Amino acid sequence: MIRKKLTIVLFAALVSTALHAESIDVAVDNVFIQTFRGKPGIWTVPGKDSFEYLLKQYGSSKEEVLSLNGGKFTSQSYMFFPYSETVLKQVLADGKGRRIQKVDPTRLMWPIETPVYTSRYGNRGGERHPGLDFGCARNTVVVAADTGVVVRAGWMGGLGLAVAIQHANGNVTWYAHNTAVLLSEGEHVNRGQIVAYSGSTGRSTGPHVHFEVRFMDVPLDPEDFIQFGLVRPDLVVREGPQQALSQEVSLDNVVMNPGQSRPGP
Ligand SMILES: [Zn+2]
Repeated sequence: MIRKKLTIVLFAALVSTALHAESIDVAVDNVFIQTFRGKPGIWTVPGKDSFEYLLKQYGSSKEEVLSLNGGKFTSQSYMFFPYSETVLKQVLADGKGRRIQKVDPTRLMWPIETPVYTSRYGNRGGERHPGLDFGCARNTVVVAADTGVVVRAGWMGGLGLAVAIQHANGNVTWYAHNTAVLLSEGEHVNRGQIVAYSGSTGRSTGPHVHFEVRFMDVPLDPEDFIQFGLVRPDLVVREGPQQALSQEVSLDNVVMNPGQSRPGP
């Protein structure tokens, strides 16, 4: 009898663990809503727009923008402007909310929306291709496949402008050939957070994302880590006005499952 009870308890525990590990909701940054240090906002190159104009446009405070961008206004490179609650509500009301995707927390998510393989891991014309290539338009939003810390960011020869993220399990994911890398080394990043804009820099014949998974600097087949079958449109919802109201714009709740621990740097 006791044994039977124990079995039931064990079974229940297993089921609940399985259910818990089944999927988590991740808000995936898009061209309208992006996150940086847990704040919703937008990366933009100011160009001819004045600092004052942009602060007003996005409802950001000067102090906050300066503190998020190394203390200075730069017209020719990307700067992050956090949205005020009013601006964020408006963006959501306009239907520009991020996709909320069910992902398997034990697997990597896709680094771009609707990925199309143009090249896989392994031999390619007598040469070893150490990653997966995803064809996409220039300036496509490239997101972190898992939570982690940026360990490399910048120009890396053949890989062009690239970013590398170290994850809790020791794996490092690489995103290469970008037109712009938005984060610097040491930055904490959440799964689904924008890290770069795609491009064709370095040794590349056209815009695409070259994605690698390395352990101890040895490239492994990303397809052994990436998830399949969870990117179905029926599982994807979009952030909307109701959610913004009910959650008081604490979008960080959506980004990260509270049950999952964040690795330290
Ligand atoms: Zn490649």
